[in-house]
Amino acid sequence: MTPPDSRLDLANLELAAMEQAFVDAGLPKFRARQVFRWIYRKGVTDFERMSDLGRELRASLGERFRISTPALVHEARSVDGTRKFLLQLADGKRIESVFIPDTPKQTFCISSQVGCAMDCDFCLTGKMGFARNLTPAEIVGQVRVLAAATDLRDKPFNIVLMGMGEPLHNYDAVMASMRILTEEHGMAVSPRRVTLSTVGVVPAMEKLALEPLMPNLAVSLHATTDATRDRIAPINRKYSLEQLLDTCRRFPLKRRNRITFEYVLLDGVNDTPEDARRLVRLLGDIKAKVNLLPLNAAPGIPYERPSDDRVNTFAQILADHHITVSVRKSRGRDIRAACGQLIVEGPKKSAGKKLAALME
Ligand code: SAH
Repeated sequence: MTPPDSRLDLANLELAAMEQAFVDAGLPKFRARQVFRWIYRKGVTDFERMSDLGRELRASLGERFRISTPALVHEARSVDGTRKFLLQLADGKRIESVFIPDTPKQTFCISSQVGCAMDCDFCLTGKMGFARNLTPAEIVGQVRVLAAATDLRDKPFNIVLMGMGEPLHNYDAVMASMRILTEEHGMAVSPRRVTLSTVGVVPAMEKLALEPLMPNLAVSLHATTDATRDRIAPINRKYSLEQLLDTCRRFPLKRRNRITFEYVLLDGVNDTPEDARRLVRLLGDIKAKVNLLPLNAAPGIPYERPSDDRVNTFAQILADHHITVSVRKSRGRDIRAACGQLIVEGPKKSAGKKLAALME
């Protein structure tokens, strides 16, 4: 077996931490900024290719540091242009990231964990179980790999933390990733182009509310009563609808900004006109918009997708009450890249593997 690489992984570091690492190594601080630019502006991670650094410096960087990148194992392309990337991490674990073109922007859907611990009853990732958190290198690395694969490094793109995992269950790494992605000497992604989606980890939302760097917030609501939400999104047993909505009510929003509420429509479970009217009441005093997600059905998921008529009726009730509502088109369903369909072999071997096999 090869011994583990003990060199410090620069891909995990925010610019300030990288500068400190250079200073600690007796290297000039300003060199860190140059390396940071190579990684995030030009997509170069091989010190030998950093042509404005001298030969000696390149050699000593290579001795002390490394720059890890998730390995692209497989890519699937949907008829609708969506591309799903299977990436392998240093420990052999695998994650998926999705590129969704023209929605109307170019969007990267990024994972924050290997698997997920939230166990929502209608989500395939949940069926995998939870393996581990991703590091900042692995979160930002997905953006680097996708930007290179889609040739978008120099163009604007949106990032949604809506892949595998619950981003607020991996808070520190996700916030460090935000700072790396938005760093002006790197990719300089505008925070307005980043959306963090959470199932409602209330204490972490309270913490997020105090962050200087704020992504857009999306909340996976999915139900209008505690009884139903307890059943389909078990986190609700810990933080009730009232607690969650109260936190949303107090969440600081920039002018004109709103919280997106995602609502998976499950036939006969949470999709009645009564649910729609209750949703109107619940969101009454919140600056909200609603994104309806008709279920992407799958073997092993004990729910059905409602008919288009039912979806439209639900949407119409919200619209009649002046709530901005959109119905999410599922993109990439033919390659299992749509919402809630990301699954790779996970720790709950039998269940996850069986499902993954069924989906092939
Ligand atoms: N854990 C975070 C991030 C995942 S975002 C969250 O829950 O918000 C993925 C979105 O797809 C969530 O709103 C999730 O509830 C939704 N989803 C999961 N399974 C789905 C399915 N089978 N069909 C449609 N949407 C699904």
